[in-house]
Amino acid sequence: MSRPSLVDLENHQDFIQRHIGPTVNQQQAMAEALGYDSLDALIDDTVPAAIRREQAMDLGGAQSEQAVIARLRALAAQNVVNKSFIGTGYHDTYTPAVIQRNVLENPGWYTAYTPYQPEISQGRLEALLTYQQMVMDLTGMDLANASMLDEGTAAAEAMTLLQRVNKKNRSQTFIVAENCHPQTIAVVKTRADALDIDVVVGDPAELIGATDAFGALLQYPGTHGHLEDISPLIETAHDNQTLVTVAADIMALLLVKSPGELGADAVVGNSQRFGVPMGFGGPHAAFFATRDAYKRSTPGRIIGVSIDRRGNEALRMAMQTREQHIRREKATSNICTAQALLAIMAAFYAMYHGPEGLRRIAERIQRLTSLLQRMLATGNLTPDNDSWFDTLTYTVGEQRDAIVARALDKGYNLRLIGGDRLGVSLDETTTAADVDALVAIFTGSQPTSPCSSLDEEVAEFDGIPNALRRQVDYLRHPLFNDYHSETEMLRYMRRLEDKDIALNRAMIPLGSCTMKLNATTEMLAITWPEFAKIHPFAPAEQTRGYQALLAELEHMLLECTGYDAISMQPNAGSQGEYAGLLAIRRYHESRGDARRNVCLIPASAHGTNPASAALAGMKIVIVECDGKGNVDMDDLKLKAERHSEDLSCIMVTYPSTHGVFEESIIELCEVIHQHGGQVYVDGANLNALVGLAAPGKFGADVSHLNLHKTFCIPHGGGGPGMGPIGVGKHLQPFLPTNPVSPVPGLDANNDVVSATPYGSASILPISWAYIALMGGEGLQQATKVAILNANYIAHRLKDHFPILYTGTTGNVAHECIVDMRPLKEESGISEEDIAKRLVDYGFHAPTMSFPVPGTLMVEPTESESQAELDRFCDALIAIRQEIQAVQDGKLDAKDNPLVNAPHTLADVAASEWEHPYSREQAAYPVVSLRQSKYWAPVNRVDNVYGDRNLHCSCPSVESYRDEA
Ligand SMILES: *Cc1c(COP(=O)(O)O)cnc(C)c1O
Repeated sequence: MSRPSLVDLENHQDFIQRHIGPTVNQQQAMAEALGYDSLDALIDDTVPAAIRREQAMDLGGAQSEQAVIARLRALAAQNVVNKSFIGTGYHDTYTPAVIQRNVLENPGWYTAYTPYQPEISQGRLEALLTYQQMVMDLTGMDLANASMLDEGTAAAEAMTLLQRVNKKNRSQTFIVAENCHPQTIAVVKTRADALDIDVVVGDPAELIGATDAFGALLQYPGTHGHLEDISPLIETAHDNQTLVTVAADIMALLLVKSPGELGADAVVGNSQRFGVPMGFGGPHAAFFATRDAYKRSTPGRIIGVSIDRRGNEALRMAMQTREQHIRREKATSNICTAQALLAIMAAFYAMYHGPEGLRRIAERIQRLTSLLQRMLATGNLTPDNDSWFDTLTYTVGEQRDAIVARALDKGYNLRLIGGDRLGVSLDETTTAADVDALVAIFTGSQPTSPCSSLDEEVAEFDGIPNALRRQVDYLRHPLFNDYHSETEMLRYMRRLEDKDIALNRAMIPLGSCTMKLNATTEMLAITWPEFAKIHPFAPAEQTRGYQALLAELEHMLLECTGYDAISMQPNAGSQGEYAGLLAIRRYHESRGDARRNVCLIPASAHGTNPASAALAGMKIVIVECDGKGNVDMDDLKLKAERHSEDLSCIMVTYPSTHGVFEESIIELCEVIHQHGGQVYVDGANLNALVGLAAPGKFGADVSHLNLHKTFCIPHGGGGPGMGPIGVGKHLQPFLPTNPVSPVPGLDANNDVVSATPYGSASILPISWAYIALMGGEGLQQATKVAILNANYIAHRLKDHFPILYTGTTGNVAHECIVDMRPLKEESGISEEDIAKRLVDYGFHAPTMSFPVPGTLMVEPTESESQAELDRFCDALIAIRQEIQAVQDGKLDAKDNPLVNAPHTLADVAASEWEHPYSREQAAYPVVSLRQSKYWAPVNRVDNVYGDRNLHCSCPSVESYRDEA
């Protein structure tokens, strides 16, 4: 070999090969195994020529990990980290370091998937169940779900829940208290408008009882700090068959009566201030609690207690039959990805502090607020609110500008309210010195003595009306009381982590979910204070770093998709769908085409598609698929023709949910356009397109991009995610904005789909870093290898199992569907048995029974090495042989390692072993497991039992005692 040059030695493309599993030589060998001369030949034969992009993406070359971190540091440095007293639902907090390092920054937690396979998810299921218990205790409700996307969308979901369950009042009117957070009001209004619900915003004391409404939304305490006993209002509402949602502050609930005690029918709010950074808007977990009677109507995911085959307690996601995949447009909501990781953090925060610790934090915030009030009163400043938890609002007249200037000078952000009012909200990080500084800011002169000198004079809970003081205990479960030392907390979190399979253990071959590498370098920036500690409504001068990052990421995503404009607001794919459909709706309205409300959806679509179309107020018409799994073009033309007058759009996934590049996509777009419709391409499968084809160029008008799939944001065990939408020029004017911090370039009256202008902004550096590290060519290479890996798996498995769908040349796209139905007919072994047996082999199961019942859909992604692909294929082939043994009568049809899977350590270590196969075959069916073995902590979980006996709280305190 010749001497390498200095440039060769400084290879800036190192990261590409870190991200992509197979080496270049392996890629060549794999392509050859598939019968092609090269990887490019495979791609040319797989991706239809008609959709291939002509120009390369203008993204520059790959950058080194060091260069990317340096650039992110420079962007971060452009943000100004002020102390934020803005409140409005977002507060600074201390993330306990033990939680930051061992959960937020730990791939064992952040790379896990949504716990659809309960046997390998018991750790995060337990943490989420604890979250539900915490929310139930603090809200005083019977039932809570495992998180929502943000407080605004949770309030909107509560509105639709109340409408569903209120059988006594069929009015279409919903009352919203004017003292709700402004972003909540806006999100609710947008949601209501699409569903023809009339929202009346005003003083609830005047509206409730006087207005016939199915529901009402109150804020407790109000957005400007006022804390009042809302039980009389709720009573009046109930007398008039109006059900009530209360949006509550979780920290205040530690000191004041719970909304449940006050009569609420649903309670929503944000758990952000329980240890989750503000992050310029997210991600944080919103909570949602309601009455037991409404449990089957509750949106989102609910963790329930069930049993496993041995009758031992085991957790699982309850009532999955209500979800989008089953109920489609009749689903309770379109929420799929939620905020699991952040809910888990909030639960751990509560466990670490315990009830007394939390109460102390809340009391201290409240005391400091009372001291601030008292100090300002001596300066002749009286707050507009005569009761408070942590927020005071002052009408300051012409002093306003001077006060704001003094605050900014000191590095403090106040809440600017219309007219001449200012708000100040205190939090866990506020000190007595901050209060003194705030006094100086408001009065213009240093206080003569510090606020602490007044402490004796302030009554305990000054500011909280007597009637509202909390008497009911909370968080009595051992979980909230056993882990207050760091050692215990650390070990508890580790115990839970060890129960689960995340990407740091093995491939997670979930079709449609794109479980690729979430590189450590990509993750580093999210906990930097310059990104983490920014309030979503901080002044624009303080968020220049974010703005620059957003602009660059927008450019990058436009290059990847071929669209003209992006909205970063949707904080999950489902929300992107909703935002995109609303943009289409507004576009038609703007052209006098308001009657266009039919949404065509192919039968194979992901369940969120019809659920989102229903939310956007559209009428759904299903288009059939043909025997090959493609959209039936004849049926499409027929239905487009039939609805020519009222066609709004089509929602189509590309490549299809069947994992195939359909040749007809361009014609499909043309047909829809001919009939006046718009084309929504679900971009969840963009991992098969980036660098090769762009939906914005082959005819689509709008797509959402799941940044938590293609662009490396980790799944967090069920969220967070980001679902920005790309749109053509004509749809740009209809992108969503925000009422507090409007999105530049848009009409201030536009729709609002989530609570903050840029959704879960603080995880955007992850996708930015990925694209910068890969560069245009690296991204294209990743796409090619994703396609290669899927075809390699299909090739290795095809002699053992039928591969369901392929394109015209016999290839699949980036995923493949393995058909288990014929085998089930012959052997009685189901796709579920195979999925659970894979756990014994150390793997997370592929996507089960979506999009086709009785099948497994495998998506390897580019990040899995050839060795891991082989290990996975070897496992499936070994399982096939086990099935053959059942068919041949060598294994018992009823008692075999497949139907009994997964096997626990307790099973094989038990004194008794009653099965006709060996313990070794149960636990170590292949030699490689000797080196590293994952043990499922529970046996197969009973799906039916958990739903019949729905129990969604931690086991009773008494049951722990019994055990002890
Ligand atoms: C994942 C996925 C969605 C939904 O995305 P979420 O972020 O979970 O809401 C929609 N469509 C398809 C095809 C998907 O795979």
